[in-house]
Amino acid sequence: MSMTNSAIEDTPTNLFIGGTWRPSASGKRIDVFDPATEQRLASVADATPDDAKSAVDAAAKAAPGWAATPPRRRSEILTRCFQLMTRDAEVLARLITLENGKSLADAQGEVAYATEFFRWFAEEAVRINGEISVAPSGAARTIVQYQPIGIALLITPWNFPAAMATRKLGPALAAGCTCILKPATETPLTAYAIARLLAEAGVPVGVVNVLTTSTAGAIANVILDDPRVRKLSFTGSTEVGRVLLRKAADSVINCSMELGGNAPFIVFDDADLDAAIEGAMVAKMRNGGEACTAANRFYVQRGILQKFSQRLAERIGALVTDDGIKPGTQCGPLINKAAVDKVSALVEDARSKGASVLVGGVAPERSGYFYLPTVLSDVTVDADLLAEEIFGPVAPIVAFDSEDQAVKLANATEYGLVAYIYTRDLARGLRVSERVESGMIALNRGLVSDPAAPFGGVKQSGLGREGAHHGILEFMEAKYISTNW
Ligand code: NAP
Repeated sequence: MSMTNSAIEDTPTNLFIGGTWRPSASGKRIDVFDPATEQRLASVADATPDDAKSAVDAAAKAAPGWAATPPRRRSEILTRCFQLMTRDAEVLARLITLENGKSLADAQGEVAYATEFFRWFAEEAVRINGEISVAPSGAARTIVQYQPIGIALLITPWNFPAAMATRKLGPALAAGCTCILKPATETPLTAYAIARLLAEAGVPVGVVNVLTTSTAGAIANVILDDPRVRKLSFTGSTEVGRVLLRKAADSVINCSMELGGNAPFIVFDDADLDAAIEGAMVAKMRNGGEACTAANRFYVQRGILQKFSQRLAERIGALVTDDGIKPGTQCGPLINKAAVDKVSALVEDARSKGASVLVGGVAPERSGYFYLPTVLSDVTVDADLLAEEIFGPVAPIVAFDSEDQAVKLANATEYGLVAYIYTRDLARGLRVSERVESGMIALNRGLVSDPAAPFGGVKQSGLGREGAHHGILEFMEAKYISTNW
């Protein structure tokens, strides 16, 4: 049996509740497809509201014991998760490629990134320090202590099936919280593979529960309506984020929201062109553009515009687009037909408003959800793809003249997740970094994601931060004790 087939056949497909794998209460299943072939890969259990209640019960039963587990022990279990995920890296990467479509190289990169969240939060678990001070009046001592926030609902998207799960599981477990993970319906297999690995690593029964469902809204409502649940950590679209924030308001649930992006990629005349092209390839083409951090709008200063556009078109046009599992593939398919239709419509809209296609611009005639890597020049400011997440391998280029204009264009969006800036002038780089409304800045770099750094957005890109020390605090509450002695 090939490694690819066994990756699928060995993966659990039932709900993981209270340490047991079980079919849903209704017995219904959801099919999972390979976006490169449109073939069915497997089916997973379709959780009902009763299953959701069982998952909360299991998380509640495990909560006191896990919160009381010594931080050193929680840290050791997370270290074991890191080791086992490293051991299984290749199988997990194949699983990601099969259900998500991204190239195997991108999937391997994702697994390496995902695994690091366990290592990082194993290290953080034993560094949850409080504070002690004398009140300014001198009347009391103030002791601040951090406690686990309680049961957490973790909802993740399909574009990073492993990393978005571990970025939440790592800090939740380190903080002493029990949780229910609801992965995206398109990519549930990776989440189940990780759940099995956590059990093997010694994560106690009920601490992590995993539910897949075709009725995400109904299941989330049941869980968020349960007064024992105190935390929602969501990664996904801004649209669904707004719905969940409204729902969470009913029980005043603490929310961390990692939402959509519309990243500007600003290239000044004085940029190192080679570095800017390398950075652009990573910022745009990692995961075929299906990343919240994907460069969505290229703003290029007029003096370097011609050279940058030409070089980018050459590089993007040379990418090998094929089934992600094939060796040598650089750009796999998009997640589903709706994604291809959306990207096609955005490119057509830009074209109809005056943009030129330097390379790509079509969905090839073949099975699978492919769209050719594309570069558009002379994109007009009213093009829809400058306002919306493209979530595909399309790089729209817009010219600018002055620094002020670049900042204004970059900030003309409701999003504020990440911005890329290329200039050799460090003072200008830092000045523009301060002025761009964005939670993260990549200055002369094409990648920001790092488990040791606070990942998150401003404006409608989200609330809260994941990774770094900030990530664990999202799963903790500060308690303050006022006293004298
Ligand atoms: P999505 O449609 O918002 O779905 C995300 C998750 O929410 C999925 O598990 C989905 O389940 C679930 N969901 C959908 N409707 C729900 C509801 N009413 N109540 C509760 N849960 C619900 O996003 P996506 O298409 O999977 O992912 C792409 C988006 O994620 C992009 O906007 C991207 O920018 C964003 N993203 C952000 C970050 C970040 O860190 N800021 C990282 C990665 C991705 P189903 O699959 O069953 O619909």
